[in-house]
Amino acid sequence: MKPYCSKLTLIITALFFFCMNASGQELPPCGTSLLMESSTGNDYYPEVNAIIENYQSEKSDRSTLVIPIVFHLIYNTTEQNIDDSLIHQQIQRLNLDFQKLNADTINTPEAFKPFTGSMDIEFCLARISPEGDITNGILRIATDETIFPSATSYDVPDPVKHTITGGSDAWNTSDYMNIWICNLTGSTAYTAPPGNFVDPADDGIVCHYNHIGNSGVAPYDLGRSIVHEMAHWLGLKHIWGDDGGTCEGTDYMADTPNQANWTAGCPDFPLLDACTPDGAGVMYMNYMDYSRDDCRNMFSIAQVLYMQSFYDAIMPTYYTIDKCTVDDAGIPSEYEKAVVTFFNETLTVKSNAMISTFNIYNLNGQLLETSNVMGSEHSVAIQYTGMFILEIIYESDRPGERVKFIMN
Ligand SMILES: [Zn+2]
Repeated sequence: MKPYCSKLTLIITALFFFCMNASGQELPPCGTSLLMESSTGNDYYPEVNAIIENYQSEKSDRSTLVIPIVFHLIYNTTEQNIDDSLIHQQIQRLNLDFQKLNADTINTPEAFKPFTGSMDIEFCLARISPEGDITNGILRIATDETIFPSATSYDVPDPVKHTITGGSDAWNTSDYMNIWICNLTGSTAYTAPPGNFVDPADDGIVCHYNHIGNSGVAPYDLGRSIVHEMAHWLGLKHIWGDDGGTCEGTDYMADTPNQANWTAGCPDFPLLDACTPDGAGVMYMNYMDYSRDDCRNMFSIAQVLYMQSFYDAIMPTYYTIDKCTVDDAGIPSEYEKAVVTFFNETLTVKSNAMISTFNIYNLNGQLLETSNVMGSEHSVAIQYTGMFILEIIYESDRPGERVKFIMN
């Protein structure tokens, strides 16, 4: 806390939040709904819903969706030029949460567990540039601009997304999902979704540099600002329907309770409100609410179906794994994925990095067994049948890995 704030410790809570505002730490969590209401986004949902209805019944042979991501890190100070490790953590967070591999799925209340959705999608850092060169998927762009305001209209170019205005031009948005990181004012993050609704050059997510990966900047300190925005990018609305508490708005999801308004902090379960005054209450632990990062842990099944259908309808031929794959030794070997094999009821993991811990969870997130490993290879006899989650934690600060596997 800044010194001038510490003198106010006996003053009322409202002043505490003022101090936080003054230090730039308490931005509104998301600017996407304001942006959509302010311009061409007005008619977005009815139009998308009409498109999606045709796809939900038709698509049954879906393969894993792949989203190659390029990060444009626009910085004016050393502090803003954040470390690669935060961006690697961000990719990991996206994969964990969308695939329902997040360890805190265990915190989802029992009443909502049957409604948790898992999406067959993989996010990866771009490894091949539009010119065909090897890249690490992170562009570092020094700028003279000290701040970038949150966009308030889709009708005008967004400065952070264009080189000529101190930002960085998007990579072809049909091949890459673009995320801009900058010193953002007005909101923590916001999204311009793909399709015919915005200029393709402005398609993507913008996020404040303080809220990427495990940043330590509470309350949005685990990378879930980008999880929330990515879901906007894939067509989802806020869970309370952005209706200002009237209970008449909707997020168009059949399995999310009607909710009056957004949630702050992390309430105790159940949280009842004017729109859902009894039973299990509202789904404040959903990624499309505003509760703290360590409080949110689920998408619903309908949300996942909607995002898959949105992808199929809006961008069916856009993205391929090729943009994340290199044939030579471009990736440092210690960052390559571990190889997992199963033979004679024994699960074996081989990695190029030193493994510290090896955990096995069931799909409810309960830890079934854990092993301390001091090496790059580990085997364990498996006694169970069904689907499980294997977690590999490394000794270095590289992100761990979580993979699902099936034992017959
Ligand atoms: Zn939002």
